Parts: sequence; structure tokens; C-alpha cells
Amino acid sequence: MVKECTTEKSQNYHKQASSNISITLLLSFLFNILVIFGGLYTNSIAIVSDAIHDMADTFCLLISWILEKASLKGKNDKYTYGYQRLSILSAIITSVFVIGASLLVVYESLTRIFSVVSPDPEGMFFFAILGIIFKGISVYKVYNGQTYNEKAISFHLLGDVFRWLAILILSIILMFYNIPILDPLISLVIAIWLIYALGKTLIESFRILLQKVPDEYDLRKLKEDILKIDNVSEILDIHLWSLDGIDLILTCKLKVNSNKKEDITKIRDDLSKLSLDYDISEETVEFIFD
Ligand SMILES: [Zn+2]
Repeated sequence: MVKECTTEKSQNYHKQASSNISITLLLSFLFNILVIFGGLYTNSIAIVSDAIHDMADTFCLLISWILEKASLKGKNDKYTYGYQRLSILSAIITSVFVIGASLLVVYESLTRIFSVVSPDPEGMFFFAILGIIFKGISVYKVYNGQTYNEKAISFHLLGDVFRWLAILILSIILMFYNIPILDPLISLVIAIWLIYALGKTLIESFRILLQKVPDEYDLRKLKEDILKIDNVSEILDIHLWSLDGIDLILTCKLKVNSNKKEDITKIRDDLSKLSLDYDISEETVEFIFD
């Protein structure tokens, strides 16, 4: 079998991710159809506006799924690192999309706090139960995923679950009391949480694209460990970065004191052991002789 990603680990993670996302896509599409019919049947503005949200969700998940699937394509002479970073690109697209939509919700909620529209509690109650089931199963599928793509999707869908839960509680309250201001208030709180959670994912994704040393690694410690290897006198250049938040790449240029074959082999072996300790997927070393 041709190895598509840099390591088997990342390949399994991306395969799992694309299968998980395909399930959320299917659920989103089915839910979308129900909400469209629901909107037409109940003639409720709230449900119709939700159908628009769900259409955007389905489209966004479709893009995520296509990119995650494409990230599994093997390396070639034009893309020598393969396509794994498409998964990060997808996390960025989802984050930007949901942050943009949440900003609109913030604006809309603020205007609605001051000019209240009467909602339709019975219709919302029924769709809230459906929404919690469909979005809940979707979150369950992607929540434990190892890719940034799944992380971004799970924050988005978790936001949707919170929204439906809030709508469920609200619809019950609204059947007895008329406090329509609660609806925009809760929408506002959830939108702010989504902007915060996906803003963080967006920043982390950009850090990966900028080839930052991943937070869980200490480059100074790695440098110390490399300098402890016999016959390594100086590190002239070093790069430690992540391809997709999973695979770690190390490139370094080392000044060495010996050019004897057995010494060089020993340095190589020690470096390989170190790479294993640091969970580095691919290391490239250049030796400069004194
Ligand atoms: Zn959504």
C-alpha cells in the first residue's frame, strides 16, 4: 500500500476525520430538509431563518469533508509534503465562516433586544428536540477527533447544540410567560462563546501555517539534547514545525568534530533515538565537518 501521509498515525487520523465529517454532513443535510419543510408548514420566521443557518452549515461541512478527503492524497513531485495541510486550511475556513456568522448574530441580537419579534414557541419546541438529536450525534462523532478540522467543526456544532438547548428551554418558558427578550439575550451569549472558541482555533491554525514550534515542545531542551550527542559541536541551523498539528518535522544543520564513518553513524543513530523520544515524524540532518 502506498503511504499517503507522512506517518501512518496522521494517515489514520485524517482517514477517521474524513469518515466522521461525512456522517456530520449527512446528518446536517437530513436535518436541513426537515427544517425547510417545517418552515413551510409552520410558516414561522424563526424556523425559516434557521433553515438558512442549516443550509450554510451543510455547505460548510461539504467543503470541510472535500478538503479532509483531499488531504489524504499522496505526495508527488509538485507537492513534496503531500496535501495534509488542506485539513488546516479547512479548519481556517470553518472558523472564519462561523466567526463571521456569529458577528452577524451579535448585531442581530442587539437590535432585537430593543425591538422584539414574537417567536413561535410550539414550532420551536419540536424543532429544538430534533436539533438537539441531530447536532448532538454530530458533535459526538467529531469531538474526539485529532485534526484541527474536526476541532473547528465540533466547536461550531457544539454552539448549535447550545442554541437548540436554549431554544428548547425558551420555548417552554414562552408557552407560559411572555419574555421575548430572552431569545436575543441567549443568542448573544452563544455567539460570543463561538467567537472566542473558534478565534482560538483560528489562531492555532495560523501558528501551524507559520511553522511555529508546537506549544508542547521546547526547542531549547531539544537543542541541549542534540548537543549532548558525542562529536556534535554546534547547531548551525534548526527547524521544528508541524505539518498539520499531528506530524512533526525536524530539519537541522550540525557542525561535527569527526568525519569517521562509525562516528557519523553513531550520531545518526542517537538522533533517530531522540526523534523517537520527541515523536518527530520526519527528520533531515546536514553535517558540516570542522
Ligand atoms: Zn451551525
